[in-house]
Amino acid sequence: MSDDAAAPDVPPETAAALDAALAELPPGFRAVALTGAGISAASGIPTFRGPEGFWQVGSRVYEPQEMATAAMFRRDPESVWQWYLYRLGICRAAEPNAAHHALVDLDAALGRRFRLITQNSDGLHLRAGSPPERTDRVHGDLELVRCARPCTPEMWPVPEDVEPLARDEPLTAAHRRALTCPGCGGWLRPHVLWFDETYDEERFRFETALEAAAWTDVLVTVGTTGATALPTFAVRAAVESDALLIDVNPEGNDFGELAEGLDRGVAVRRPAEEGVPAIARRLAALA
Ligand SMILES: [Zn+2]
Repeated sequence: MSDDAAAPDVPPETAAALDAALAELPPGFRAVALTGAGISAASGIPTFRGPEGFWQVGSRVYEPQEMATAAMFRRDPESVWQWYLYRLGICRAAEPNAAHHALVDLDAALGRRFRLITQNSDGLHLRAGSPPERTDRVHGDLELVRCARPCTPEMWPVPEDVEPLARDEPLTAAHRRALTCPGCGGWLRPHVLWFDETYDEERFRFETALEAAAWTDVLVTVGTTGATALPTFAVRAAVESDALLIDVNPEGNDFGELAEGLDRGVAVRRPAEEGVPAIARRLAALA
């Protein structure tokens, strides 16, 4: 798809700004894409940070920021698992879109000169074909589990017996059995970064991601905002090392405004499935 002259492009003004900025990249340039929930919107995956993530337990309605916590898991692991298995079902039913595919093409064109950092745990980058070794999933991956204690740092794919759940469907005895740690007999938990936890290198490749941001010649932020720490740090690291910043977001946001104010920055105010292929195609052509 990357060489298709008939492929849709961004509006002419944005295309001109992109072409001018990309023309200044050095030969053998390095590229990093940092993606957030916005890249998966066209695949039908809600952010789960708003009402679509609200969850009723007994008579109380919890917000995502309360459900996605280690504290809640300690108190009520079954309800937290119900919520995650519902989300897992939605993610598995979704398909990667043109933006995910374009980043696979870009990886193929740039190889080790490219790195993908994603805040998404929906699995769509890997399902599209992005190589796991160059895809830092800094908020985890819904398709992986690990010991909640933990008795081991090991991670496993979600056991085959663990079927996703429809909304409000309870866990079964088979779920409970399969979500038991083979090492200690305690609960397995989703491999995701919870709101009351902090990034680390071992599980989430936090430092690797920041190093990539400082290493790159062009950072493309897609469908993310400065609402969480990692994108903010990554953007700062890239800008401080004089990288070109390109922000793709249909709405104005902090990164778009920052990019517009920089000598070397472009804000692409288009949806990810339109903006990312336009950028990836250009970068691949320059490779
Ligand atoms: Zn264990």
